[in-house]
Amino acid sequence: MQGEPREGRIVVVGASLAGLRAAETLRDEGFVGSLTLIGDEPHPPYDRPPLSKQVLLGRVPADKTGLPRRRDVDAHWKLGVRATSLDPVGKRVLLADGEEVPFDRLLIATGTRARPWPNPAEAAMDGVFTLRTGEDAGRLVERLDAGPERVLVIGAGFTGSEIASACRERGLAVTVAERGPAPLVGALGGTLGALAAKLQRAHGVDLRCGVTVTALEGNGRLTGAQFSDGTRIDADVAVVALGAVRNTGWLAETGLAAGPRGVTCDAGCRAFDMYGIVTDDVFAAGDVARFPHPLFEYQLLSLEHWGNAVAQAEVAAHNMVNPGPRRRPHLTVPAFWSSQFGLNIKSVGVPTFSDQVVIAQGSLKDARLVAVYGYRGRVTAAVSVNQAKSLEYYQRLIETAAPFPPAPGAADQLDSRAPVPSDVPDPKMLSHGPTVALTGHLPDRRLTLVQPAR
Ligand SMILES: Cc1cc2nc3c(=O)[nH]c(=O)nc-3n(C[C@H](O)[C@H](O)[C@H](O)COP(=O)(O)OP(=O)(O)OC[C@H]3O[C@@H](n4cnc5c(N)ncnc54)[C@H](O)[C@@H]3O)c2cc1C
Repeated sequence: MQGEPREGRIVVVGASLAGLRAAETLRDEGFVGSLTLIGDEPHPPYDRPPLSKQVLLGRVPADKTGLPRRRDVDAHWKLGVRATSLDPVGKRVLLADGEEVPFDRLLIATGTRARPWPNPAEAAMDGVFTLRTGEDAGRLVERLDAGPERVLVIGAGFTGSEIASACRERGLAVTVAERGPAPLVGALGGTLGALAAKLQRAHGVDLRCGVTVTALEGNGRLTGAQFSDGTRIDADVAVVALGAVRNTGWLAETGLAAGPRGVTCDAGCRAFDMYGIVTDDVFAAGDVARFPHPLFEYQLLSLEHWGNAVAQAEVAAHNMVNPGPRRRPHLTVPAFWSSQFGLNIKSVGVPTFSDQVVIAQGSLKDARLVAVYGYRGRVTAAVSVNQAKSLEYYQRLIETAAPFPPAPGAADQLDSRAPVPSDVPDPKMLSHGPTVALTGHLPDRRLTLVQPAR
């Protein structure tokens, strides 16, 4: 095994996007050993982004978002069974049905689940939903089809905002409650948050910011909700969209560095143990992974992006079957998209890793723009709203740690605009490490370069 990483037993826990793409890459890279995928959902891997978009709009059935296969993976599929623990010394995964699955190398790809409403009795009422799985989406669509009087969406992050958008498109009355000052602030900061608030209201959402839901009312069946400002509403559907919880509970007491923020791993996707020592044969990828990125001062990133799950799974799989010198770092620039209220939002980089933002193209007024984010004088992210075509240009600026605000380039419209504070949450999380740039394009030729202070 030691000398021949293309043989042996590989087990992947988590049979969704990252797990499937890793399995396909393992076979692409010539892995000929036994491959087992373990997933607690009973279905073959399916895609989640459509669940809050096309599925809620009734355009695609909830059980028809299966992920396309790139190739046959010749694997043992153990679906509908949960991994309950891991014995890293004996190299076995323990399953809820009592089975023990031995491995030589393991990939942890258990993703996240919806954060539940904190009051279990209120959460159990008929009419209270979360949205993470195909079943969740199916149940919610059924209720929306029945024409509720009012839908309450709790939390205006990306998922909550997309749900509110779909409900309004269906002509349903919608109240959105958001603790922060505006929708999307947690991910995109104040400038685009203000735009999102304006658009939600223009689309008829009863948007309430700076408030929390203090109680869900009802007697077995939801009838309304109370807010922290003393007001209340009648509502027969509530969708709890309070973010995600990482599925790391099954790794408690395994000695791995696994906790609420994910499984900490190195840039080559190898998991750390609880002492911060990198393991040789346990890897992590996708939403459950927490990894350092040199472009963002090596801070540990926990992303919930489709594209990151795919790219990181590919790197993890490559490294699982290649000896040390041929291993690759996961250096993909984070990217995600969202569609809501007629907006096509695309992001590259990490907008929360910023202290300033500037509208480099277009305008907030027209809701068609590119916002570029900077941190300590260099470009760290860009977000396009209905104007995705120039995003690649800004991605290059991020990759090369180009100065912020960006010099007007071919893609920019010449217009004097001053940067303003980005108003992202928790800027104190930012540190003062070295500025690092990436060089090269081929996955096996990418290098990092520490830049002198400006
Ligand atoms: C409604 C919704 C909309 C989204 N929209 C977008 C979007 O527009 N753009 C974007 O970039 N991203 C979007 N995402 C995020 C994207 O879907 C995720 O980044 C992606 O699914 C991550 O894949 P993953 O395989 O890492 O994790 P997951 O998809 O969470 O898969 C993990 C799998 O592991 C299983 N599992 C967990 N614990 C265990 C265990 N102990 N034993 C066995 N199996 C286990 C889970 O049940 C699940 O099947 C959206 C997500 C949701 C829910």
